Amino acid sequence: MQQEHLFKVLVIGDLGVGKTSIIKRYVHQIFSQHYRATIGVDFALKVLNWDNHIVIRLQLWDIAGQERYGNMTRVYYREAVGALIVFDVTRASTFDAVPKWKDDLDTKVTLSNGKHVPAVLLANKSDQSRDGLSTQIPKLDTFCKENGFVGWFETSAKDPEQLLR
Ligand code: GDP
Ligand code: MG
Repeated sequence: MQQEHLFKVLVIGDLGVGKTSIIKRYVHQIFSQHYRATIGVDFALKVLNWDNHIVIRLQLWDIAGQERYGNMTRVYYREAVGALIVFDVTRASTFDAVPKWKDDLDTKVTLSNGKHVPAVLLANKSDQSRDGLSTQIPKLDTFCKENGFVGWFETSAKDPEQLLR
């Protein structure tokens, strides 16, 4: 018998960090320079055939437009079981905003067992040079421990082969 699990995963972070691009890359394997900043919430579904018995449907919630206010409503966060918090390695201000997004998440939603929703930090646009963030990125392990992230990854929605090291 097949088991299906539906997981709501939020993708949050400042405007322009690449949230929509990461979702499009992950779900549709495409990249575009221009995604319209539609107002509202967008969903994308990533189906993972975990094994012969388990199908996982990741419902990725993309915020469009509201991120410019730096926080979201409780309704948006409701029943999320995971979050990706994204910053842009070429813009230090988007990294400075990360603790604020983490705090917004933690104050507005918890898992049914009362624990914080697990959050992963994404250092996006890592195909570009890390303007202003070259000293922070090597310290992200410590940053994650101090700020309650389960871990972090360098990502590039544009060109995953071109991660600069
Ligand atoms: P959002 O506002 O967080 O949803 O950001 P978007 O996904 O709309 O991306 C904002 C801009 O950054 C767009 O012009 C994207 O093409 C560009 N972008 C997104 N991800 C990357 C990346 O990994 N590398 C580069 N070089 N540009 C990216
Ligand atoms: Mg977007």
